Amino acid sequence: MTLTSRDKKVIWHPYTQHGLFPESIGIVKGKGTYLYDENGKKYIDAISSWWTCIHGHAHPYIAKKVSAQLKKLEHVIFAGFTHEPAVELAERLLKKLPKNQKRIFYSDNGSTAVEVAMKMSFQYWYNKGMPKTKVIAFRNSYHGDTFGAMSASERGAFSKPFEHNLFEVIFIDAPVKRKEKEAVSSIKHQVSRFKNEISAFIFEPIVQGVAGMVLHEADTLSKMIRICRENNILTIADEVFTGFGRTGKFFASDYLSEKPDIICLSKGLTGGTMAMGVTSCTEEIFNAFLSQDKMKTLFHGHSFTANPISCSASLASLDLMEKKSTWENIKRIEKQHKKFVLKIQNSKIGIQNRISEIRMKGTILVFELKTQDETSYFNSIRDKSVKFFLNKGILIRPLGNAIYLLPPYCISDKDLDYIYNSILGFLQSL
Ligand SMILES: *Cc1c(COP(=O)(O)O)cnc(C)c1O
Repeated sequence: MTLTSRDKKVIWHPYTQHGLFPESIGIVKGKGTYLYDENGKKYIDAISSWWTCIHGHAHPYIAKKVSAQLKKLEHVIFAGFTHEPAVELAERLLKKLPKNQKRIFYSDNGSTAVEVAMKMSFQYWYNKGMPKTKVIAFRNSYHGDTFGAMSASERGAFSKPFEHNLFEVIFIDAPVKRKEKEAVSSIKHQVSRFKNEISAFIFEPIVQGVAGMVLHEADTLSKMIRICRENNILTIADEVFTGFGRTGKFFASDYLSEKPDIICLSKGLTGGTMAMGVTSCTEEIFNAFLSQDKMKTLFHGHSFTANPISCSASLASLDLMEKKSTWENIKRIEKQHKKFVLKIQNSKIGIQNRISEIRMKGTILVFELKTQDETSYFNSIRDKSVKFFLNKGILIRPLGNAIYLLPPYCISDKDLDYIYNSILGFLQSL
């Protein structure tokens, strides 16, 4: 029996309607940019396997480091105990993060990194004797699938069955180009309306991923952070997706002149090797929990907090992030994306009118396609394009009518060209 048929009997997949898509492709091997299925078919992973695998699959250096750690210490309880990989990773992350970040809290994934950030912010005010319960977030935001993270995310199809179980969040306009004034006045309005009630402002900085790779104006976002700071509201940058070079800088917060109080990391943290989350914060926040009073403790932790294997994968990924060649690759991908966009804009085959907008940031390239039906996550163009590209041996996963590329940094120019030409083919087929 094939993997696909065995899977069909026993597995429930994420974000999958099994009534419509009962079959999953069985992958048996990964190498660099490529995935190989059980029939020997090769796929280019053009989305870094859900935005995680920044250095490519089965990287030999990460494998070596993880394997060495496995033989030394696989796991240890992280309350009352510590270990070298966790300490070294915290030291090295803090050197890369904005200077105001002073403490690292470990958890298991992007959603838990966000949960921890929100609990830190609520309890920060609680410990100071001025509890605040409200949160500000962007319209079309996505912060994860656990209840707190879902509450801070745009209410829609994903959260509909749970809407009565979510806590109230104030949604405001994101600082997209030509809407800067609205975004600033929107946050000013809410801040004065709910004076002393707002605990935190959470946002995906510079690129709102699930929203369809929507880009923000850095100066305006900085201004919004400043307004929060002036009004005693903590700011949380959810860099779960944007961290580790994806946007062209180490962190998206590096584009901001005003730095967030709390930062969430995951996805690229371990180089896509395994699950891990990080929530970093300022000394000021850590100090609000520092006390002889046990009630001021942050009562949060997971069985596998700071797992040494995950830490060693993250350290290996950081080593690769510190190599010059990685940054040359990031710049190279950016340059290739730009060249392709110019080619489309100057093309004579009449495909420009199929596209409503093209967006680019670092290694991210997005085409928003014009469609007849609604421009939602459930847009029909999505399933059509996935099939088209899979046939060509390319793994993509459009967000509704937004087709995007965010390849591993090791992708070759040849593979990029092959993907670009396939995009041209798809646009012509519409
Ligand atoms: C993916 C994502 C999350 C959730 O991370 P998981 O590891 O999937 O739980 C949170 N925030 C952002 C911005 C994300 O892109």
